[in-house]
Amino acid sequence: MKQIKTACPLDCWDVCSIELTVNNNEIVKIEGDKSHPITRGFLCSKGYKHVERLNSPKRITSPLKKINNQWVEIGWKDAIGEIGDKLTEILNIYGPSSLLHYTESGHCGLLKNIVTAFFNSLGSVIQTEGSLCWGAGIAAQKLDFGKALSHSPEDHLNSKTIIIWGRNPADTNLHLVPFLKEAKAQGANLILIDPIKTKTFALATDFYQVKPEGDGYLALAMAKIIIESNWVDDEFLLRYSNNYTDFKDHLLNIKMEDLVESSGLTLEEIIKLTRMYALSKPSSIILGYGLQRYKNGGKNIRYIDALAALTGNIGVDGGGVSYANQYLSQWINWKYALNTPKEKGITIKKPLFADFVLEKSPNTIKGIFVTKGNPVIQLPDTGNTIKAFMSIPLKVTIDHFMTDTAALSDYILPCTHQFEEEDFLSSSMWHDYFYYTQQAVSPSKGVKHEFQIFKDLAIHMNLNSYLLNYGNEADYLTKSLEPLLKNSGLDLNTMKGNFYKLTGNDVPWKNKQFSTPSKKFEFILPKDVIDSNIERDLNYPLQLITLHPKNSLHSQHFMDEIEGSLPIVYCNTATIKNYNLATGDKITIESINGSISAIVECDDGILKDLLVLYEGWWLKNEGINRLTGMLLSDIGNQAAYNHCFCKIKSY
Ligand code: SF4
Repeated sequence: MKQIKTACPLDCWDVCSIELTVNNNEIVKIEGDKSHPITRGFLCSKGYKHVERLNSPKRITSPLKKINNQWVEIGWKDAIGEIGDKLTEILNIYGPSSLLHYTESGHCGLLKNIVTAFFNSLGSVIQTEGSLCWGAGIAAQKLDFGKALSHSPEDHLNSKTIIIWGRNPADTNLHLVPFLKEAKAQGANLILIDPIKTKTFALATDFYQVKPEGDGYLALAMAKIIIESNWVDDEFLLRYSNNYTDFKDHLLNIKMEDLVESSGLTLEEIIKLTRMYALSKPSSIILGYGLQRYKNGGKNIRYIDALAALTGNIGVDGGGVSYANQYLSQWINWKYALNTPKEKGITIKKPLFADFVLEKSPNTIKGIFVTKGNPVIQLPDTGNTIKAFMSIPLKVTIDHFMTDTAALSDYILPCTHQFEEEDFLSSSMWHDYFYYTQQAVSPSKGVKHEFQIFKDLAIHMNLNSYLLNYGNEADYLTKSLEPLLKNSGLDLNTMKGNFYKLTGNDVPWKNKQFSTPSKKFEFILPKDVIDSNIERDLNYPLQLITLHPKNSLHSQHFMDEIEGSLPIVYCNTATIKNYNLATGDKITIESINGSISAIVECDDGILKDLLVLYEGWWLKNEGINRLTGMLLSDIGNQAAYNHCFCKIKSY
């Protein structure tokens, strides 16, 4: 028996430290690492499922090629030879700007970036920009602070008021919950702002049910009250912020009743909330990843950031607006890790993938290589996404399972599971711990790590310069981590099997030197606020919000879902009564983009005329992005999934 220390590589806030007990190359026990100060010895259901995924009979364990619409197992030699030849042919005939590498965050290990380094070695291949998840918020905090940084979980214990705004830690950020409970036990106000009474409601001392797309209006209404009541921090505004006077002038010209109406709350509620936030300080805001998925998603975050600046809740213990955490990222040599090209080639905005392929630039992409993602069902507008994907002559996917993207590809290359490999992991969303994980078991027969796959391809394609710079895993990690290793005084050998904390970021912006060009906090001017309110098509009276599921990281854990089982759509009693429906009824949900079948479940924690679905369902279970449209948020090229309007009818 041996004990192995590793960590969870999923795209989650927590990045849990994991302990495995291994006997004869078999994992006999998985548990949370009790010595980790944040993840404290327990995992969520997705974490415990890692062993199941590793040993799943559904795992692909041989390269597959589609011949006459049937999958045929081929050996690695043939797979590398055929794919390498096809890539070379595309490069020779059409050039690198006909190749798209599409990647997501299905595994957050640093080594997995080798795929990007490989494609960038081929020249100016097509790049993607923007984001399906958090882009508008990252862009917003970059404009306001210079970058997105989060307060440490421990620092929330210094807060007298904590606002959980659009995050549902009880389901998706489990290890934050003990900190929230402790803060509450110490007397902190724990306020939840959300259009849905999520499980986190049970922890909250106060709940404000904001309208979907109403977060920015609520923040502006709060800002107006703070300014008019003179609850502002004059010193912060004068010395450390830019544009405050213009912000104030614009805001004071907006009618309070318009903001109140658009927020979905009453004026009394907003005054109570604002009083608590502005006067019971220090106050911290912890943001989730839903409120940026609207057309005004960037503004929503920027108006909320402004609340912290107005009240001086920035750079102080127990304050801040914690959205994501790019602290550790600055200690990685991304230029080397990604082999960043000198010249930028064609770029595709991710949420508009199908539009680019079918409308803007048909026949441009001759080959697509998908890694760490399942874009066929995760991109908006599944109907057009499938058409676009299928129109590309060469489609290769690396995955563990026959996802929808894999199933529609021409080749599938099976890769190693995280317990079969070493890697460097850290959280880009929350705490400042990082890990160099240990390999627990040998790779299953027939699978390869991406590093080896691309080394083999490079050998086949005679990419000597790539092989020279990117041919060795240990060198890749050492060079990519050079700034971090220098800063921390660590070396890779010592790090293996351990976790460390990068210090200096418990309370971001303590010195009030922001990373913006002005070195100050930047206020956004609230212009055209009410004009940009959503337009409603009365034929589609219900708004659909899609949430992160508790038991799957996006679409990653749906492989065992029974074929044909339907997603559950949650809505409140008044909504379903309007349609003479009851819990358990089968319905059709239709938007201008497409339709799906679903089963209704009544949940009175949801606002009237709002539909809620969990994302990630595969095509065998309808695939909910048939409903969502190719829309962008105001900044960050973010998919505006939640700007989606539907009608329903009984089956
Ligand atoms: S998904 Fe998140 S909470 Fe669950 S085990 Fe992984 S890191 Fe931990």
